[in-house]
Amino acid sequence: MSQRTPRGTSPRSPAAARDALRAALNRRDFLKLSGLGGGVFAAGTLGGGLLYSTPSRAVQTNARVVIVGAGAAGLAAANRLSRRLDGAQITVIDRREPHYYQPGLTLVATGVWERGKTEDRNDRYMPRDVDWIKAHVAEYDPDHDRVVTDTGESIEYDYLIVATGLQLRFDQVPGMDPERIGSHGVGCVYDTPQNAARTWEALEPFTHQGGKGLFIRPPGAIKCAGAPLKMTMLTEHRLRQRGARERSELHYYVPGSGLFSQPRIDDFLDNHFPERGITIHRHHRVKELDAENRQVVFTSEEHGEHTETFDFIHLPPPMSAPEPVRESPLAAQEGEHAADGWLEVDPYTLRHKRYANVFGAGDICGVPISKTSASSKNMVPVVVQNLIDDIEGRECSAEYTGYTSCPLITEIGRAILVEFDYSLEMVPTLPLISPYEEHWVSWIMKVELLQPMYNAVLRGRFA
Ligand SMILES: Cc1cc2nc3c(=O)[nH]c(=O)nc-3n(C[C@H](O)[C@H](O)[C@H](O)COP(=O)(O)OP(=O)(O)OC[C@H]3O[C@@H](n4cnc5c(N)ncnc54)[C@H](O)[C@@H]3O)c2cc1C
Repeated sequence: MSQRTPRGTSPRSPAAARDALRAALNRRDFLKLSGLGGGVFAAGTLGGGLLYSTPSRAVQTNARVVIVGAGAAGLAAANRLSRRLDGAQITVIDRREPHYYQPGLTLVATGVWERGKTEDRNDRYMPRDVDWIKAHVAEYDPDHDRVVTDTGESIEYDYLIVATGLQLRFDQVPGMDPERIGSHGVGCVYDTPQNAARTWEALEPFTHQGGKGLFIRPPGAIKCAGAPLKMTMLTEHRLRQRGARERSELHYYVPGSGLFSQPRIDDFLDNHFPERGITIHRHHRVKELDAENRQVVFTSEEHGEHTETFDFIHLPPPMSAPEPVRESPLAAQEGEHAADGWLEVDPYTLRHKRYANVFGAGDICGVPISKTSASSKNMVPVVVQNLIDDIEGRECSAEYTGYTSCPLITEIGRAILVEFDYSLEMVPTLPLISPYEEHWVSWIMKVELLQPMYNAVLRGRFA
């Protein structure tokens, strides 16, 4: 197992002066002191009047910051920290080189966008001054401030940001796996752009021929909880466009009683689905899939175990924290976030509840709100500010409100821009557009404006 050590320091550098002081202090106290007042060292007050200047707002520190995951949250955090910290050693760990614009996958899976529009590259957004390790973290060892990669490299940190997103648990649905997507009438929008395109390959013939379509909302916390709803409503619209609606039946299965966590939108869907002839089945869970015979077994409180046939099924799997987090001391130990191993963070500061030098951003966080890139966009500045507060010896000053947003597409050309927070109250940001009504402006936002905004967020802009 190889070991990474802090960057080398030249005897004349400010870092050499810091090293002398560090010998007398423990590492985190040292980092706090070095961050005080915008940087004792930046002012050149130590070590015989070192003369150097730093960007006015950059915080001087030689903290080692490790970010695990280079998705929506990880890249945004890397860019922000790289601008806000001067002298820090920032490391990003993620094997994945392609970057997927996941909010566009629903449009790919319903034939609105080509798959290529959602495919990008992480190196276009990775700041030049970070160390990018192309491996995955296999083990978290927060008691010793280190992570170990699946290539056996041990990396020590002063601060850790966990931004690994979540794991799709195809293993929890017997008969279902990503290889099935696109054949035997099986679709799933949640995987890769390739499998979103293959979902459209399975869905398109159905929208011409019609038949029986089943749409599943898996149990537990999932990313973009609006996506199963959007897949259902877009399919209904496609069937109408192609004159196949009258020879089709559509069914939507939910594990609980509600369709959406925001109460006003839940009420809207309760009426809207029956108006469009979509039957809602509550308290249903998928037990197993028999794709070859186009059959799925459900368990339900009311009907027990029963089998349904289908011509098309949209079957997203349950989701959990990725295994290395789930199996680590960082996972929630009790409460609603424990079963799926979500990161145990304070919902407002996003700081780990037991390991003060660990923060979380994005889908991995065990917080009581939908997992969206809109949430990540608002979480990252909070994490960055609170991490810097700690470096500078202050209490965490920034709080995440729980903001999340979902452009709920109801048909091609119309959407509701749903924005809410921990209070579950709507917090609309678009003037003049009702957050409760379908509107073409919200559709234009979804297909034209949100992707450039997402890319700007990756570069550490916005919010
Ligand atoms: C179909 C679909 C539709 C969506 N629609 C919307 C929408 O309309 N609006 C919206 O705001 N959001 C939407 N989202 C959700 C949004 O894409 C996610 O919430 C967002 O990407 C979360 O960002 P993240 O950084 O937490 O995770 P991700 O962006 O998924 O990135 C996680 C990264 O961590 C890496 N990783 C995983 N494990 C490890 C490990 N052990 N070591 C190192 N790296 C690791 C992965 O390789 C990946 O690069 C949608 C998602 C899907 C799938």
